Amino acid sequence: MATKIGVYFDQQNIGGGLDVQALADGVSKKWGDFAPVVKVYPVLANAEADIQADIEAQGLDGVLVCGCSPRYDWNLYQFPGIQVERVNLREQCVLAYKNPDGSAAPAGAAPELLVAMAQDYVNMGVVKLQKSTLPEGAAVEGVKRVLVLGGGWTGLHAALEVAKTGYEVVIVEKSATMGGHVQNIPTATPLSAPWTEPQESGLEAKIAQVKSNKLITIYTSSTIARLEGQPGEFTATIATAKGEEQVQVGAVVLSTGWTPLAGKYLEPMGYGKLPGVVTAGEFGKMLREGKMDAKRVAFVLDTTLAEEAAKAQAAAAAEAAAEEKPEAAAPAEGEAETPAFVKQDLESIKHLGYSNSVSGVAALRLANAVCDKFDGAQVFILYKDMVVQGLLERYYKHAQNRLGIMMTKADVTDIARSGDALKVSCANTLLGMDFDVEVDMVVLPTGIVPTTAKDAVVQFAYRQGPDFPDLDLFDGFTDSNYICFPYETRRTGVYAAGCVRQPMTMDACAEDAAGAALKAIQCIEAATRGVAVHPRSGDLSYPIFNFVRCTQCKRCTEECPFGALDDDEKGTPKPNPARCRRCGTCFGACPERVISFANYNIDQIGSMIREVVVPKDFQTEGPRILILACENDAYPALDMAAMRRKSWSPYARVIPVRCLGSVNAIWVSDAMSKGFDGVMLLGCKYGDDYQCHFVKGSEICNRRKENIAETLNRLGVQPERVEQLEVAIDEYDKVPDMIDGFVARIVDMGPNPFKGM
Ligand code: SF4
Ligand code: SF4
Repeated sequence: MATKIGVYFDQQNIGGGLDVQALADGVSKKWGDFAPVVKVYPVLANAEADIQADIEAQGLDGVLVCGCSPRYDWNLYQFPGIQVERVNLREQCVLAYKNPDGSAAPAGAAPELLVAMAQDYVNMGVVKLQKSTLPEGAAVEGVKRVLVLGGGWTGLHAALEVAKTGYEVVIVEKSATMGGHVQNIPTATPLSAPWTEPQESGLEAKIAQVKSNKLITIYTSSTIARLEGQPGEFTATIATAKGEEQVQVGAVVLSTGWTPLAGKYLEPMGYGKLPGVVTAGEFGKMLREGKMDAKRVAFVLDTTLAEEAAKAQAAAAAEAAAEEKPEAAAPAEGEAETPAFVKQDLESIKHLGYSNSVSGVAALRLANAVCDKFDGAQVFILYKDMVVQGLLERYYKHAQNRLGIMMTKADVTDIARSGDALKVSCANTLLGMDFDVEVDMVVLPTGIVPTTAKDAVVQFAYRQGPDFPDLDLFDGFTDSNYICFPYETRRTGVYAAGCVRQPMTMDACAEDAAGAALKAIQCIEAATRGVAVHPRSGDLSYPIFNFVRCTQCKRCTEECPFGALDDDEKGTPKPNPARCRRCGTCFGACPERVISFANYNIDQIGSMIREVVVPKDFQTEGPRILILACENDAYPALDMAAMRRKSWSPYARVIPVRCLGSVNAIWVSDAMSKGFDGVMLLGCKYGDDYQCHFVKGSEICNRRKENIAETLNRLGVQPERVEQLEVAIDEYDKVPDMIDGFVARIVDMGPNPFKGM
């Protein structure tokens, strides 16, 4: 814990008519022994040398900077070995201030409510430091070797990228040969300028390059039997034809690719029923092997026929199940309407949609190949949405001008045999009329299903099981937050690239491989230094367990979104700090308050809550509202709102939390006992389109809130006094109204019955 701190005020960043010297005097009076140095500077950024001198002269071990948000000037005020905290007096106090009636503060001296708010924030900052210790990190040795799982196009690129940095690589490939699906394609889509011509993939050369690289070891016809340990020091057990072998690796690139969507889903489009109807994957293989002799080909990218049939079948199956066994078909409370066993088909068919941009480019590539092969070829590309990403737009335009290729938007309403030919019926076309085309072959998109959708390809020896969790959330794709952290899976140290991450074209796969390779190296380096890799990059803190009080209730081990905690046979948690993302979800879960971080703990936030001065008279002095704001989205949104001159109720006090998942119910009790009239939990969206950086944090918080509501109910306190609201980082224009709306609801409810007790 900090024992002696200096408190510094940055006058230029405060303003608002606040008497900064009076604030400083208040700190000296209240915290004199703990804060022997309290100074006001007109421009604090110029005073870093002075602060350093104070640290040395006074033996300070903490520095509190009162001025702008910690999100600005973040590179200032860093003193080695000293804890530094920032008090956000500019954005979330002065700029956010308005009078309770909504009017702006008058010019001149700051109103009383603003002064009270500033005092609360400064006192919270002081006590935050008082309850905080400098984290030391939990470094591991850091094996500089990366396991690349899958030796296809993406895996080959990833291996070469890793080897370029001097790290060793172990490739484990399930099949006997390297190259994956690319072995079956006749030509590649353009991989470089001018982006108009198909070109050789160069696969053989790439494989030769990998094989001749001394830093790369290859295991073919092999799989991973087990991955244990943590980033920097994983042990991978490789199952080979000759038995099992173990290798130490620091991180993993997951490039196991995809498998085609089961053919049954394409039956409504004639696949498996009509000769001549094949998937793009099969058609490419036929071309490559010289077995394709059709001059008239239709590429049907509109898959509505298959999708509608799947939906109809699912609805019929649900209906039949309901008739046969009503209780089994009825959704459980809180579940979606569609029973789980019917969902499978609906989710699988989505893979056709996910594959859209790949299917479009594949159709262009194969259409060009048909025209290259036969003079007078007639190729039709019939699409609902033609998705061609990035520079491949040029490839699309080039194909548009090619004689023999005809493209149109169309609803494909039927595919049927017509004599020796296949007839494709089209409606709502760009030509302004409905028409049929007669062709020799029909090519359907290949739905890209990630290999992780069904099998546990990594075989984690983790307490939470061998697979990636919650695969149904993204239909098998492994992302943990695709918006902010591409490559990241829900297992730290394992980075997905290529089509196991999302359907993508070959050029995108190569780029993705480089990204995941660098991420893997970054992870090993971070583990070696004992810091978090992301989202809290560089964070030295990690959860520390006071096992004396642990009741082995297993909540922490079950709720950790990243499988960072194993346990022993009794259920005592076994932390793996290098797997940990430092979200605090475990400590939010722990009923015994066993878990803490050096610089973020239950007592610390509880003490901050207790530092707020809550007036006894609700009617004349107004309510007090505690906002626990997720520091990833909600807190920055508040800063941005204030910077845009948006303001909110002066009765609110904001405390940033690492994630709403880290909110422990005791903080709500602390706030209620203190006399706060309402608690607002402000965090990210949850559910299928979640934005939570820690995947589950805000969802878990919402579940816990229900328990909190029950407790409040039992105590005779309205559960509506605690609300969780969702905000994304770009919703800064909404957040002030959200706060004001909550405050208005609390005002209507009246004071917290515990106030003043
Ligand atoms: S819940 Fe979060 S902080 Fe706790 S062990 Fe898991 S990743 Fe780490
Ligand atoms: S939640 Fe707390 S009490 Fe329960 S197992 Fe984890 S550390 Fe122990």
